[in-house]
Amino acid sequence: MRVLITGGAGFIGSHLCDFLLKKGLKVICVDNFITGSPSNISHLKGNPDFMFIEQDVSEKITVDGEVDYVLHFASPASPADYLKFPIQTLKAGSMGTYNALELARSKKSIFMLASTSEVYGNPLVHPQKEDYWGNVNSTGPRSVYDEAKRFAEAITMAYHRVYGISVRIARIFNTFGSRMRLNDGRVVPNFIYQALNGQPLTVYGDGSQTRSFCYIDDLLEGLYRLLLSDMNTPVNLGNPGEMSILEFAKLILKITGSKSEIVHLPLPEDDPHRRQPDISKAKQFLKWEPRISIEDGLARTIAWFKMHIRPGQGPLTKENVIEALKDVIDPELGISVVDLELIKDVEILKQEKGDFVKVKMTLTTPHCPLMGYMVKSVKERIEGIPGVAGADVELVF
Ligand code: NAD
Ligand code: UDP
Repeated sequence: MRVLITGGAGFIGSHLCDFLLKKGLKVICVDNFITGSPSNISHLKGNPDFMFIEQDVSEKITVDGEVDYVLHFASPASPADYLKFPIQTLKAGSMGTYNALELARSKKSIFMLASTSEVYGNPLVHPQKEDYWGNVNSTGPRSVYDEAKRFAEAITMAYHRVYGISVRIARIFNTFGSRMRLNDGRVVPNFIYQALNGQPLTVYGDGSQTRSFCYIDDLLEGLYRLLLSDMNTPVNLGNPGEMSILEFAKLILKITGSKSEIVHLPLPEDDPHRRQPDISKAKQFLKWEPRISIEDGLARTIAWFKMHIRPGQGPLTKENVIEALKDVIDPELGISVVDLELIKDVEILKQEKGDFVKVKMTLTTPHCPLMGYMVKSVKERIEGIPGVAGADVELVF
């Protein structure tokens, strides 16, 4: 069996690649790294059952051979990301879904859409059931994501009705775990990062808005059961354990043992006030419900974050940046970019909101096929250093 996963280098997508490889499937991962990361899939390089295609799914997707399943997960998902990439988000949800469906149609594959609780907008019904139509501001800042996903659901159902292709629509509620980008702006990485670094936890508004957080391993099992089911209509997948964001901040402080204070910042426009999945459909038809408590899931996630950030390194220096870049390995050669002498210059620009790092790097060959991968890995590693607000990587030959 062969599965194609768009967005496979992202947080959920990369876990899905691992999960389905373990189930014995061959995996084709398609990603353009707009919000994902090469490091999420670097461990799969060399696996004969894994193939990577660097591509924007807003363009036609072509692959040779049979494809049994097409899983469309490509889309910026963090509010900070989709506000930064509004047009790309609309294209991933609209043109990306169309292209993924066309591939599924031509290959006679089963199609799965990663939809979202955001299709319910700021819900007037609580908890949210699949038959609730939602309350979305069609022109507000979040509409680029919400409406793209609503269009994606609509075109998925149209392909099912018109061409009879078998479809699955997973309405995913807030999910967390390892491989979330440290700086993706979502509440889980933000609070963990802040707590581990002694920075204030930034609660938006008074923190009374609620979310229900699901650990990644539970979600993967739910997605798998949905894929193997015959449910052609939307199914909520999430953890019904609802809590306010203020409670969530306090829980992070407790689990990390951090002494950080809590500060309040303005609530973003159209931020949904309450969110909790009704999962009776998944329980009844998939025999699925989450098994991992939020405390356990957070403990595992925090352990991963601790390994991926370097707290307490003191002032940011050129030497520290170069030290951090020793973690970035050229996957072809198995040697770090520092030892390959690819880093030509590092400049640190002091800024009020965190320092900005400019790097000049060269490549092993001017036409290195891994160019996008290497640049992204270097940028991401630098942005993982505490106190770094951003990085720019310039290629020099
Ligand atoms: P993510 O940002 O970590 O992953 C998204 C991946 O898609 C990234 O690797 C990104 O580079 C890729 N991508 C985006 N646009 C692309 C394009 N045009 N072409 C190719 N690749 C592209 O986000 P995530 O949290 O892993 O979310 C994955 C999917 O699940 C998304 O579709 C999201 O809407 C959905 N979802 C996630 C959550 C959640 O809580 N994490 C909740 C609801 C829905
Ligand atoms: N949030 C917060 N502080 C942060 C980041 C997010 O209080 O540093 C809030 C945000 O306003 C929202 C909730 O946490 O109410 C979840 O935000 P997230 O961006 O993780 O995802 P959303 O569920 O809004 O898509």
